[in-house]
Amino acid sequence: MTSIDRYAVFGCPIKHSKSPRIHQIFAEQTGQVLEYSAQEVPAEQFSSAVATFFANGGKGLNCTVPLKELAWAYADKKTERAQLSKAVNTLALLTDGSILGDNTDGIGLVTDLAANHAITLTGSRILILGAGGASRGIIAPILEQSPQAIVIANRTIDKAVNLAVEFHDKGSITGCGFSDLKNRQFDLLINATSTSLSGQLPPLPEDLLATNGVCYDLAYSNEPTVFVRWGLENQAFKSLDGLGMLVEQAAEAFFIWRGVRPKTRPVIELLNSERKHTYNTLTS
Ligand code: NDP
Repeated sequence: MTSIDRYAVFGCPIKHSKSPRIHQIFAEQTGQVLEYSAQEVPAEQFSSAVATFFANGGKGLNCTVPLKELAWAYADKKTERAQLSKAVNTLALLTDGSILGDNTDGIGLVTDLAANHAITLTGSRILILGAGGASRGIIAPILEQSPQAIVIANRTIDKAVNLAVEFHDKGSITGCGFSDLKNRQFDLLINATSTSLSGQLPPLPEDLLATNGVCYDLAYSNEPTVFVRWGLENQAFKSLDGLGMLVEQAAEAFFIWRGVRPKTRPVIELLNSERKHTYNTLTS
């Protein structure tokens, strides 16, 4: 008897996760036979839950808040981008029985910006708001696109400064507090704080966004997030949320597990069509 290949996303909370649906669509689209479920796993149960999952024949896992650092520590081997980010969102069982850890968040963001929305990162002045796990995951893939400079601004200034130091040999990157943003302008503002989840906004000075600048909130919601609304009110050329990044990071995980690259555009368009707003419309 052949059993179906099993995958899952672990997180806490997890019940609103779109990942099972996204991976099911990818599987149908590519003719892959697999099962993908969502499992609520608190941090203190992470190691035992992962061990049980793989011992029972599981092939791969996604890990989300608050488990990415734990997944990084759990993995036997890590890709370079996972090693750099110190956070893992994808675990894969290798043929020798070891567990590979990867971080597909950054490449997911870069693909959504560059391929889906035709936004040029090369030569751009980029501001990343927040210095938590998500920021850590996106910095190296953005620096690989050779922006003019990245500034990380965070409520806890030390975290921004230290994070910038970790990446300073990979490009022009500095850290600061929100009050240091006065009289500065950026082509791309990326909100990697968790403020949107509570309907808040980091303190942003006026004129922060350059003419034709773009705003991108890593958070996503059925309604425009506060940051997306701020971008629209401040004449952003585009003001986007993180739904496309979610689908793109999932596609990258699917490729790691199955060796097949699913088409992401139809999935993003489907999920967008189920929302009331249209600001995330893809560039053709
Ligand atoms: P973390 O908890 O690791 O980091 C949270 C960050 O937000 C910190 O920099 C924190 O600052 C800052 N912050 C929290 N509250 C406030 C506040 N009131 N004012 C100013 N700053 C604040 O979260 P993650 O990095 O894991 O996630 C960040 C966001 O990215 C979340 O919205 C998450 O949903 C989203 N995300 C989306 C993905 C996608 O696929 N679309 C993938 C990954 C993440 P401080 O250091 O001072 O505490």
